[in-house]
Amino acid sequence: MAKVMIIGAGGVGTVVAQKVAKVPQVFTDIVLASRTLAKCEKIAAAIGPDRIKTVQVDANNVSQLVDLLRRERPEMVIHVALPYQDLAIMDACLEAGVHYLDTANYEPPDVARFEYKWQWAYHERFEKAGLTAILGCGFDPGVTGVFTAYAAKHHFDEIHSLDIVDCNAGDHGKPFATNFNPEINIREVTQRGKYWENGSWIETEPHEIHKPLHYPRIGPRESYLIYHEELESLVKHFPTLKRARFWMTFSEEYLTHLRVIQNIGMASIHPILYEGKEIVPIQFLKAVLPDPGELGPGYKGETSIGCRIKGVKNGKEKTYYIYNNCRHEEAYRETGTQAVSYTTGVPATIGALLLVTGKWKKPGVWNTEQFDPDPFMEQLPIHGLPWHELHDVDLEV
Ligand code: NDP
Repeated sequence: MAKVMIIGAGGVGTVVAQKVAKVPQVFTDIVLASRTLAKCEKIAAAIGPDRIKTVQVDANNVSQLVDLLRRERPEMVIHVALPYQDLAIMDACLEAGVHYLDTANYEPPDVARFEYKWQWAYHERFEKAGLTAILGCGFDPGVTGVFTAYAAKHHFDEIHSLDIVDCNAGDHGKPFATNFNPEINIREVTQRGKYWENGSWIETEPHEIHKPLHYPRIGPRESYLIYHEELESLVKHFPTLKRARFWMTFSEEYLTHLRVIQNIGMASIHPILYEGKEIVPIQFLKAVLPDPGELGPGYKGETSIGCRIKGVKNGKEKTYYIYNNCRHEEAYRETGTQAVSYTTGVPATIGALLLVTGKWKKPGVWNTEQFDPDPFMEQLPIHGLPWHELHDVDLEV
């Protein structure tokens, strides 16, 4: 039915490749393109090389991408390389007439921003070209937007507060490692905190606000208020929200390492001269840290990500908690990767499936909460991410 091109052969790319390969009735042809061909070949070999074609590409290079897209003629690109490539790939998709999906908002290499403005600016061009672009279709962002849209559609007349809670209670056995691309992860968690309240953004020091929250099957974990990109789109698309916040759990060990990394300048994104060569400290750090895609073996425990929502239904105050728990061991058994790659790759696959089957196809640039959540919610358990709801419970937030 559809030919799809996956760009990026890291932890998330591994999951997407395996998951799309399992839906041959929809994804008839698969191309996996990335910077390092050997990584694509390794993923393809594990699935069956006849099922996936592999190609080397520099996704920062628009003309190289356009040539590749014109040659391969996929219906859509699932972009799971890095956020730095978002605009180059969107430009190439526009030029070659290909639909687009990603899992993280565009980041300029020299400044950590986590803003959608650059990608939202493509809306009219995609609309005019009759092409769909789905932004941020991982778990958070991604499923968190779908969960919020589902809650608003089925359980509330108006939603007033949203707390996205993201817990990784897994243990990978390493003193320090990040669960997805270290550069993006460290940029995200070291920035100042920010949340939405009564129509404006309130800034905090990094990790200034924290409290223990209870997670299903896990128990209490210290949870830190951080800024996360989907807050920007969710407060725009659900204007009844009076407050929107994002919480993530970190262990003491993780935060101590992070403090040291920052204090010694290794989290810096500004180039320095080292032996006459320009290097970016955080990129060098990435090269010596464990590869997130290789954390799977021995990773124990589970993740729990969900939305805690307050609002009104039929004139009465109501609380609602919707979440998914995902076990690292099960993700590893199925795909050879840990749960963070898994919980990102599965929603990207579902978004792609809904796009090519027409359920989530509408010309323009959209965040996940702007589509009908129901078909997505139906697909989540089918592809390995069951979800659960709790009504009228203490949300703790
Ligand atoms: P990895 O670092 O493991 O993989 C990134 C892949 O992209 C690598 O294969 C890398 O190539 C490739 N790549 C980097 N630059 C280029 C380029 N210029 N051209 C072609 N390929 C390139 O990252 P993850 O798999 O952990 O994460 C992938 C994406 O998913 C990231 O954008 C991340 O922010 C996002 N994410 C989203 C989440 C969500 O819930 N929404 C959660 C977790 C991640 P090479 O192998 O040569 O380095």
